[in-house]
Amino acid sequence: MDKTWVLAEQRDGTPAGIVLELVTAARGFGSVVEAVTWGPGGAGAAAVLGRYGVTKLYNLGDIGESLPGPKVAAAIAAQLAAESRPDAILIGATHDGRDIAARLSARLDLPVLANVVGMDASGGRLTSEHSIFGGSTVVRAEFTGAVPGLFIVQAKSFAAEAAEAAEQRSLEIVEVEVPDTGPSDAARVVTRHEEEHSGPKLDEATVVVSGGRGLGSPGNYALITELAQLLNGAPGASRAVVDAGWAPYAFQVGQTGKTVKPVVYIACGISGATLHVVGMRAAQYIIAVNKDREAPIFAIADLGVVGDVTKVIPRLIEAIRARR
Ligand SMILES: Cc1cc2nc3c(=O)[nH]c(=O)nc-3n(C[C@H](O)[C@H](O)[C@H](O)COP(=O)(O)OP(=O)(O)OC[C@H]3O[C@@H](n4cnc5c(N)ncnc54)[C@H](O)[C@@H]3O)c2cc1C
Repeated sequence: MDKTWVLAEQRDGTPAGIVLELVTAARGFGSVVEAVTWGPGGAGAAAVLGRYGVTKLYNLGDIGESLPGPKVAAAIAAQLAAESRPDAILIGATHDGRDIAARLSARLDLPVLANVVGMDASGGRLTSEHSIFGGSTVVRAEFTGAVPGLFIVQAKSFAAEAAEAAEQRSLEIVEVEVPDTGPSDAARVVTRHEEEHSGPKLDEATVVVSGGRGLGSPGNYALITELAQLLNGAPGASRAVVDAGWAPYAFQVGQTGKTVKPVVYIACGISGATLHVVGMRAAQYIIAVNKDREAPIFAIADLGVVGDVTKVIPRLIEAIRARR
């Protein structure tokens, strides 16, 4: 392994959390780590990427703030990759990341390995671990054909850690000339809306309180937000609750929602279906409240409370308030 690339999604110079996780993983391969970024403020990401061990940053610029940013980024990244020939390209499993991975695969005529949850480069061979069958089984894979190997990596598969001071090198920024990419780029991003939230973000919170269908009614979801707020945590939800419209999609935890890794995860009225568990089982401690003592969530819980969530949670809220 000589060289690993990371696709560095960033917003106004702040790299997405998963980018720092991927750079940390790539550093562990013992190879040179380079990154490709695009969008407004790309060069601003250089300082933090350098602290995490990136030595070269290809900055595609704001690509004219064009709507098909991933399309343009993939086209140029494919050209650069064909010239620079990294051994592997690590891509976060985000909307844009998946989009770019598919386009890179087509342009480079190389396969993609998706759902990566672990990687190992010991012995000079890069193997990846993949979560399959809804997260119930993990398999190992290895590219044997042409490089670069394209990997789509799940969030929270690696912990982000800045490089030791001795490993931090000055980062070279390569400003890449972006050619006119034709009329498909006529669509422009004219405004962005940040989702409003108070308290910590779901995928960064140390405490997550999630509600499931066992809450019984949309009004009871307020118990989840109240408890989360009291614990300085973030509210989450099962897909059943999101599909029912009791909580927004941004709150969904699981295979098709967010992957969380808090210190404490409190599952309230959640059965523990595999497609939910895959997004939260890496929590350090899991507390489950469910009225069915046979509920699968208890199999992974460190602390289980068999009871009615609409009675247990108000009592818990009361007890926490009384201690303040
Ligand atoms: C392609 C696909 C992707 C999916 N992705 C996701 C995903 O990302 N995230 C996700 O969560 N799901 C996902 N699902 C759905 C998943 O399979 C489950 O259907 C879902 O997680 C169930 O949600 P739940 O636990 O809230 O509801 P249920 O399975 O209905 O469980 C409700 C639980 O509440 C308990 N309960 C009932 N009343 C009370 C009460 N008063 N007090 C205490 N406990 C009570 C019950 O005993 C039960 O265990 C996906 C499904 C598919 C097909």
